[in-house]
Order: sequence, then structure tokens, then C-alpha cells
Amino acid sequence: MATERTYIMVKPDGVERGLVGEVISRFEKRGFKLLGLKAVQPSRAHLEEHYGDLKTKAFFPKLVDYMLSGPVVGMVWAGKEVVKTGRVMLGATNPLASAPGTIRGDYAIDVGKNICHGSDSVESAEKEIALWFPEGVCNYSRSIDKLIYE
Ligand code: UDP
Ligand code: MG
Repeated sequence: MATERTYIMVKPDGVERGLVGEVISRFEKRGFKLLGLKAVQPSRAHLEEHYGDLKTKAFFPKLVDYMLSGPVVGMVWAGKEVVKTGRVMLGATNPLASAPGTIRGDYAIDVGKNICHGSDSVESAEKEIALWFPEGVCNYSRSIDKLIYE
């Protein structure tokens, strides 16, 4: 059974717009397993660590301010190829380049207000899960997995 995990986060614009349930629902209905979920108001230092790889980008200060504009909802999902599939479900970074049917393609327009975050590799997922859920997440087996995986 796949144990791959990813960190998905609804950003402040997504939380204020009432899209938390929509994001959760899409991952739930797809068949992924929820291991962790919480609303947080992270510090600037926490966000700078989360987006550490983008420190040198011109948009970095604006990105951190955007992420500080309200609470975020972080979640951990598990399942087969959940990192890559999660990114496909979110859509392209620039929502205007996102296909309809993706979260960003259905609900967003500008890159600086793109509603959601998803880990870009298994390695960064594990780092992000450790950063956002230092207390740990759940680990359980589901009887319905036999209806989802062959
Ligand atoms: N971002 C931005 N302007 C850009 C590129 C990215 O404001 O030109 C923001 C956007 O919110 C994006 C986040 O920075 O989601 C992180 O960028 P990354 O390249 O990691 O995109 P993602 O992994 O979120 O698709
Ligand atoms: Mg990224």
C-alpha cells in the first residue's frame, strides 16, 4: 500500500473565500486519505522557512505578505502518487494557465492569489509536513482502500 504523503494548504484568500471545504472535498472524493488538518496563523519566520527556496525571487516579499494576510488551513494527504496528483488537482501556478477542472483553474485568476499550495516533491512534502505538523499526524489503515486500490 502506498504511503506517499503530501502537504496541501489553503492560502488566506482561499480561506476567506470559503474554499476550504471544496479543497478538502476534492481530495476526499478522489480517494486520498486525510492524516492531518488544522487552521494556523503562521509567523513571518515560519513562512520564510516554508518558502525558503524562493528567497531570492523578486516576488518573495509580496508572497510572504500575502501568506500573512490571514489564516491558512494546512492538511496532510496520503495515497498513491499523491504528491504529483495533488499538484495536478491544484493546477498550474499561474491560474490563467490552469485547466478548468483544477482548483486554481476553477476558482482563481492571478498568480499572487492562487488559493492553494501543494508540495512539489516527496522530499519537500516530508520537510513541509515536519514544519507545519511538528506534533505529528495520524497514521491509520482504512477498510475502504480495497475499493480504491486494485
Ligand atoms: N508566486 C507569485 N508570482 C510568481 C510566482 C509565484 O506570486 O511569479 C507565488 C504564488 O502564490 C505561488 C507561490 O509564489 O503559488 C510559490 O511559487 P511556486 O513557484 O513554488 O509555485 P507553486 O508551487 O505554488 O505552484
Ligand atoms: Mg512551490
